[in-house]
Amino acid sequence: MFELPEVATLSRQMNDTLAGKTIAQGSLGNSPHKFVWYNRTPEEFEKLTRGKVVGPTRCRGRWLFIPLDPGYVLLFGECGGKVLYLPGPLDRDLPGLFGRDLAPGSQLPAKYHLHLTFADGSALTAATQMWGAYELYEAGQEQDRQYVKGMRPTPTDPEFTLHYFSALVDSLLSGEKRSVKALLTQEQLIPGLGNAIAQDIMFRARLHPRHPIAELERDQRQALYSTIVHTVRKAIDQGGRYDEFDLYGRPGGYVRLMDSKAAGQPCPECGTTIEKIQYLGGACYLCPQCQTY
Ligand SMILES: [Zn+2]
Repeated sequence: MFELPEVATLSRQMNDTLAGKTIAQGSLGNSPHKFVWYNRTPEEFEKLTRGKVVGPTRCRGRWLFIPLDPGYVLLFGECGGKVLYLPGPLDRDLPGLFGRDLAPGSQLPAKYHLHLTFADGSALTAATQMWGAYELYEAGQEQDRQYVKGMRPTPTDPEFTLHYFSALVDSLLSGEKRSVKALLTQEQLIPGLGNAIAQDIMFRARLHPRHPIAELERDQRQALYSTIVHTVRKAIDQGGRYDEFDLYGRPGGYVRLMDSKAAGQPCPECGTTIEKIQYLGGACYLCPQCQTY
């Protein structure tokens, strides 16, 4: 599933590639999927998207906001899988920009959940894994969508300061006992983070996933804050994780420190064998020596 770095990468690339294109035809999926959320019928979607011009895409957390001017916003939310640009005839002059499997004239994937063709012959397809939203709103109404409305500051927002982060942790101390992994991955307390990037954040902050947030020392809070910001920024700068794909079908450049490939290998810091545990609905990979609990 995409996390903030992958969504930010797609947003940037959509701005570079799609902005200004006119939609010739918009279609919803050819592949029924129980956990893909639409808010329009295929007929409505086609009618409302025809002739619209793509505006500047932006993102927050795991959500992409794609203006379709005039008057609409296309929302991609909490998706995974592939969002792919299929070059058109006019892209032939851009050698090296696209992977071999995305040469101009590339075929449409066999299964997709959304497909936009543009007047210049290029196209966009999206096919998610597990779940995801592809919804079309009248501009402004997308802000009222559940999970978008009231979204807390994300690690790339200017409001995500150490002061904010510390106040967030304080606000969570009175309720149920939470661990560092719960803080990073549950209830979108920090929107955009997920189980993948959380592993590297916890390793860099030297905190065990089960470490209670109530017992974080002042310097541990600061370390956790700065590793969240640093790790997200680094993964965005490198075009997302290496096990996900960008708009052009290329894998991201951010190689995770702590993932299934690390399990059983020596810790890059101390040489202790990296462990895999199951905790809070997903695997965790950690160094039992470096990450305190
Ligand atoms: Zn270690």
